[in-house]
Amino acid sequence: MTYRSGRHFLQIPGPSNVPDRILRAMDQPTMDHRGPEFAELGKTVLYGMKRIFKTENPVIIYPGSGTGAWEAALVNTLSAGDRVLMCETGQFATLWHGMANKLGLETELIEGDWRHGADADAIGRRLSEDAGHEIKAVCVVHHETSTGVTSDIAAVRRAIDSTGHPALLLVDTISGLGSVDFRTDEWGVDVAITCSQKGLMMPPGLGFNAVSAKALEASKTAGLPRSYWGWDEMLQHNAKGYFPYSPATNMLYGLKEAIVMLLEEGLDNVFARHARFSEATRRAVRAWGLEVVSLVPSEHSNVLTAVLMPEGESADRLREVILEHFDMSLGTGLNKLQDRVFRIGHLGDFNDLTLLGTLAGVEMGLACAGVPHNKGGVQAAIDYLAESAVAVRTEERAA
Ligand SMILES: *Cc1c(COP(=O)(O)O)cnc(C)c1O
Repeated sequence: MTYRSGRHFLQIPGPSNVPDRILRAMDQPTMDHRGPEFAELGKTVLYGMKRIFKTENPVIIYPGSGTGAWEAALVNTLSAGDRVLMCETGQFATLWHGMANKLGLETELIEGDWRHGADADAIGRRLSEDAGHEIKAVCVVHHETSTGVTSDIAAVRRAIDSTGHPALLLVDTISGLGSVDFRTDEWGVDVAITCSQKGLMMPPGLGFNAVSAKALEASKTAGLPRSYWGWDEMLQHNAKGYFPYSPATNMLYGLKEAIVMLLEEGLDNVFARHARFSEATRRAVRAWGLEVVSLVPSEHSNVLTAVLMPEGESADRLREVILEHFDMSLGTGLNKLQDRVFRIGHLGDFNDLTLLGTLAGVEMGLACAGVPHNKGGVQAAIDYLAESAVAVRTEERAA
């Protein structure tokens, strides 16, 4: 490989770009995780993550990936043969469903077309038929990273409540948390699941469960085998700021900085920033004459935009051309969207000019790869960003 000058554009929807402040925070000697200094760090990040999850209840931090945090949510709350209701929103929902089957749960899948969020009414209908309360949990992916479609978790909660059904609500907000509003307590989420490499702007390596009192109660009788993922020992140690086994200490240094950065900017500003980027991106896609995967405007993702290729054109070939010529990585189409879709990540440590560089890379790539499209996508994004930047500043002055 020859040297490539300038910064690589990592515009996949996670891992997202790790900001320098976080890299520097991690670049410190690893400390004794049983020593007195560690407890301070442990307490700081455990408390800080409650603010990010918007919960008063415990948050658990594993050295692990998002997949591990999925497993933790299931094995701590359920028993072999328990029935769980899941929603096929895309590839991540499909993988979580596969995991539940492997763990010995009886899964029921509400099928979907990979272009819509979870259907709260369908969940409500299914629960109201379940008079014997055989369904023990409803599992929903808040933010489906394979399609760029968001599910309305508050609506799912209302649907569950309207039936009076006692099922737990387990939610994967792996690519939503820290980029899109998520209210663990207000929405009555029993286990909220995330990991470090998306909105939290960290490298991969940490998995999280935010655990309600009801989920904790369920864990006392849940029968699935667990050891590494067990909440009980974790919570005992966490109470004093420690962990039962070696934590990912340097990742926790980074997490502490990530939390400071998100709160310094203000969560509402972070969410508004992401909303603005996604609108600008969709305007570019429309100007190119291409189509986004997400069909319902209120469900459009603020984290990424999945774009459908024109019939007969290869998304993977386009991504290859863009990587080769412009040193930018875009997300691949997953499973049945393979080669049909490319995904533009616009999350995390990201600003107007990073977005415009990203969109310029896509527009140049479309031209280089000979994909039929209209020019002017970047211009459409510039127009929107410029006009909305003026609006944002004026509001700030007025405040
Ligand atoms: C990234 C992602 C996962 C998987 O996380 P890993 O850290 O790769 O295990 C699961 N669900 C969603 C929605 C994701 O975006």
